[in-house]
Amino acid sequence: MTAPDAPRRVLELRGVRKQYGSVVAVDGVDLRLDDGEFLTFLGPSGSGKTTTLMMVAGLQHPDAGTIALNGRDVVRLPAWRRDIGMVFQNYALFPHMSVRRNIAFPLEMRGTATAEADRRVAEILRLIGLPDHGGRLPRELSGGQQQRVALARALVFGPSLLLMDEPLGALDRKLREQLQLEIKRIHRERRTAVLYVTHDQEEALTMSDRIAVFNHGRIEQIGTPEDLYERPATRFVAGFVGESNFFPARVLSVAGGSCELDCPLGRVRAQMRDGVTAGAAAVLAIRPERIRLTAATGDAAGAVAEITDAIYLGNARRCVMRLAGGEACTALEPVQAADAHGLRPGGPVRLSWDSAHAIAFPAG
Ligand code: ADP
Ligand code: MG
Repeated sequence: MTAPDAPRRVLELRGVRKQYGSVVAVDGVDLRLDDGEFLTFLGPSGSGKTTTLMMVAGLQHPDAGTIALNGRDVVRLPAWRRDIGMVFQNYALFPHMSVRRNIAFPLEMRGTATAEADRRVAEILRLIGLPDHGGRLPRELSGGQQQRVALARALVFGPSLLLMDEPLGALDRKLREQLQLEIKRIHRERRTAVLYVTHDQEEALTMSDRIAVFNHGRIEQIGTPEDLYERPATRFVAGFVGESNFFPARVLSVAGGSCELDCPLGRVRAQMRDGVTAGAAAVLAIRPERIRLTAATGDAAGAVAEITDAIYLGNARRCVMRLAGGEACTALEPVQAADAHGLRPGGPVRLSWDSAHAIAFPAG
């Protein structure tokens, strides 16, 4: 039984699959989206993000699996009857229609009375911060403004789900960051559930309640930005979301949720993921900001390395090192810490880390 205040389930995909000829574009995707949630599909080009979105929209038909919208199976329902708003990378506004008529179009299609349509268009023009631009043509707007109009058109009829496929991909960086915050604000005010697609991990971390990481047509992990960053479930996620050092390793022993490894950093204790077994090969991942650097004196715990490069980044220093066996390793030091022990290329340095931030994945 559902608790009275449990969020309403807007979307549920189970075992969704799509093949184009011999290419498996989407290979068994399961996911759920609750009312008011902002879920982002993040993954490299060709990983199946757009195809999954198109099947939710009804613009592609799955070969297998079920798609339920507001508790109702929609696999056989045409796109226009699914009550979904959509925004794509290319604005796709009608060039010969005013901003006001572009936004009113979905209301006209639904037979909304003129007075009500006028009221809603005026309200949403205010929401997107363009209250006086209703009379303009799309070509009289900047790219960012056009994309806000596309967003208004997708929201004006009050859909229960909004789909956005790389909507900021054509904009320059500054405008993209500004519109990211604007989309978040609009989402906060409207509380419409959103499925958002991007290949940009910073954008995904900035905007999302949860992120689904796609790779080869599958979801490798789904969770909050912090879940993915701090507790990556797979090696791919550890490398795609943020940056990691990876070291080849052999598993010496396993106990509970952790293991002991032999690797270029020496004998290392690490948190282990599914598939790590004693005696087998593994990969050790440690994020650069989790590596502390101190003077290489005495015989404290940790590994010793030679600094090959210390790059000043303003708010931090990126320190690239070579371990005794020749492997490279990167640490990111806050400037204050880096200043304290004067990192200089050529010098030896001691690396240390907390085993909670060392993660072992199965090799291969
Ligand atoms: P993404 O949006 O993550 O970049 P897509 O869903 O567009 O990925 O594509 C997934 C895979 O399916 C890719 O290999 C792509 O080439 C293939 N693909 C996508 N659309 C079609 C299509 N209409 N016909 C044939 N292959 C397609
Ligand atoms: Mg795509």
